[in-house]
Parts: sequence; structure tokens; C-alpha cells
Amino acid sequence: MALELRPNCERCDLDLPPHAEAYICTFECTWCRDCVATFPGRACPNCGGNLERRPVRPASKLAANPPSTVRVHAGS
Ligand SMILES: [Zn+2]
Ligand SMILES: [Zn+2]
Repeated sequence: MALELRPNCERCDLDLPPHAEAYICTFECTWCRDCVATFPGRACPNCGGNLERRPVRPASKLAANPPSTVRVHAGS
């Protein structure tokens, strides 16, 4: 099961393409660097889990394994 590679920050809706610096928890709640900096303990505000830098999928693998296009945004 591959990561979804969600296309945006769940808090501020910033675009996070596959090569962007994004942070995820085990549920793949997805956040940008600036939002993570505001989270107490850098923990996921949805589930309380720790956040890690999202790995970058090699460009050669993206065609056969495209990133998610489903935007998750809590604020709208
Ligand atoms: Zn953000
Ligand atoms: Zn989470």
C-alpha cells in the first residue's frame, strides 16, 4: 500500500506536490512546514501522533503511481 501523497496542507490549504517538503503522521494527515512549526510538540493535531517528513516518490514512479488529487482541508 503506497502513500496517498495528498496534494495540500490540511490546515492552510497550501499546495504540496509530491516533491514538496510535507509532513505526515501514520494516518497520512498532511501538513506544510509552516503549520507543523505551530503545532505543540510538533504532534499531529488530528490524532496526536508524531509527524515525519514525507518521503519523495521518485519522478519515474509517479506516472504509474500518481499522487492523490483529493484535497483534505479542515478549514473550509
Ligand atoms: Zn499549512
Ligand atoms: Zn494524524
